Amino acid sequence: MLSEAATNTFRTSLRGASFVPGEPGYDAARIVFNRSIDRRPALIARCAGAADVIACVGFAREHNLPIAVRGGGHSIAGKAICEDGLVIDLSAMKGIRVDPATRTVRAEPGLTLGEFDRETQAFGLATTMGVISTTGIAGLTLGGGMGWLIGKYGLACDNVIAMDVVTADGRLLKASEQDNADLFWGMRGGNGNFGIVTSFEYRLYELGPVFGGGVLYPVEQTRDVLRFYRDFALSGPDELSTQMGRICTLDGAPVVAVAACYSGSIEEGEKVLAPLRQFGAPIADLFGAMSYLQMQSMFDPWFPPGREAYWKANFLNGLPDDAVEIFHRFAQTAPSSYTTGPWLETVHGAVSRIDPAHTAFAHRRHPFNFLVLSSWSEPSEAERNIAWTRECWDAMRPFMATGAYVNYLEDEADPHARDAYGANYDRLLKLKNKYDPDNLFRINHNIRPSA
Ligand SMILES: Cc1cc2nc3c(=O)[nH]c(=O)nc-3n(C[C@H](O)[C@H](O)[C@H](O)COP(=O)(O)OP(=O)(O)OC[C@H]3O[C@@H](n4cnc5c(N)ncnc54)[C@H](O)[C@@H]3O)c2cc1C
Repeated sequence: MLSEAATNTFRTSLRGASFVPGEPGYDAARIVFNRSIDRRPALIARCAGAADVIACVGFAREHNLPIAVRGGGHSIAGKAICEDGLVIDLSAMKGIRVDPATRTVRAEPGLTLGEFDRETQAFGLATTMGVISTTGIAGLTLGGGMGWLIGKYGLACDNVIAMDVVTADGRLLKASEQDNADLFWGMRGGNGNFGIVTSFEYRLYELGPVFGGGVLYPVEQTRDVLRFYRDFALSGPDELSTQMGRICTLDGAPVVAVAACYSGSIEEGEKVLAPLRQFGAPIADLFGAMSYLQMQSMFDPWFPPGREAYWKANFLNGLPDDAVEIFHRFAQTAPSSYTTGPWLETVHGAVSRIDPAHTAFAHRRHPFNFLVLSSWSEPSEAERNIAWTRECWDAMRPFMATGAYVNYLEDEADPHARDAYGANYDRLLKLKNKYDPDNLFRINHNIRPSA
């Protein structure tokens, strides 16, 4: 049991703010993106820098406290927050420095994608992140990081050059190809199992305006659009990244959308996307030249804070006609207009040419990632939406590969988290035994150390 005296002494030693139950700020500090998560930590330490993080790790060890680490708080499973224990909240660590000469950036783990992109784009530079600007760079990168530049530059984790990592024994280690290379390997896809990152260094690329947007069709045409899409999406050049599926317009009408970003020249993008824009009779064609920042926030209105969520996702081996039929059927029946899904992300180009053993992220050879991103506003709607999500996911099971993207796993998937690490699991287990044998970092999609 944590004494008040020990807690107070510890709190005064921190440079950053901290919150305990009953204090102003505590309730706001325990809110995460998924509002169905309602946990009450004993202490939330909003770290100001690496020294606070090191102190938190020491304090948690000394008092045998469970630790949750919070970056952007977007884990749908709620892994950024815990019941009773200590939340090491990195959300105030937002330092960032772009070096245009070396095309690299140093970024702290409290940054959101929107903040990161704004700073890098000021120099006409970018690297792969995700597609919703409020997501945290830290959790996203540590699990992989799939976004509009995936075909050209791979995952966010593929573009990390180095990280500063506070390990379970309270040391701060540099992880890179040259320093602690085993840790560097595991941190790129291993989902925070080995330590807490206090600073990332990424490689950047020149990126001007992109040709992006989407086309919308009546949801009744899902089957035809999907049949066209499955070939179109995979035959495009690396510069083309696409997603598709059932979504509702902001006034609540269900449609089937194909969204895309072409990250080469605008003229080339128009040519590459012409077959999609000429296919069928779209209700709306929203393609055009736009800044990368506009592209990166295009989907934001569909994912505001304050809603409950239940997500399921898995990579697919392919999309045969039988899978198309199931996708079509569930596109017609989603119970909530806030739900995005059934949905597909395409995995092609640079990401798929990297050896699956090169980083801890194993799932590089499956063409599609299948997602059901269910969301609703009232707790009373949870049961119906969760049941529909599971039914849809179960129906697609015959077409699924072994393994899901760790960043989309829901909490109940934990017994199967092993599949999310795929063929890299045994190597990750060895690393866990070396860097965190007592499983201090366990509120994540956990690799349990072997006895
Ligand atoms: C609306 C929305 C959109 C999304 N879009 C995409 C997308 O386009 N592409 C994509 O790939 N993913 C996407 N995701 C999934 C996203 O990658 C994960 O939710 C990811 O965990 C978010 O990171 P975070 O820092 O915000 O999360 P948090 O909940 O803060 O953290 C997630 C996990 O990472 C750990 N962690 C966080 N920071 C650190 C750190 N510094 N050191 C060690 N461990 C740490 C946490 O302990 C936790 O286990 C999306 C999620 C949401 C909710």
